[in-house]
Amino acid sequence: MYMRHHVPTLGPVAWSTAEVDDYAAELLRTHRPVRRGAGGWLLRRRPLVCGRCGGLWACPDAMWALGWMTSLDRTLALDRE
Ligand SMILES: [Zn+2]
Repeated sequence: MYMRHHVPTLGPVAWSTAEVDDYAAELLRTHRPVRRGAGGWLLRRRPLVCGRCGGLWACPDAMWALGWMTSLDRTLALDRE
């Protein structure tokens, strides 16, 4: 079943649930938390940022992907497919 979704970077798309799943999985694979800056004794105080987009973790893309994977919309759509 194809539905309109609003996904990060691309905006509105008409994808199946499986296609949105693939996109969300790709975002989760590429947007990973990293420590900003070099190592050292202050390591634990450095903020976690996204290694892909540089946003403070959790970045919006990762939050969207996590939200999609656990969303009621997705669950209901899979039930209908
Ligand atoms: Zn990111």
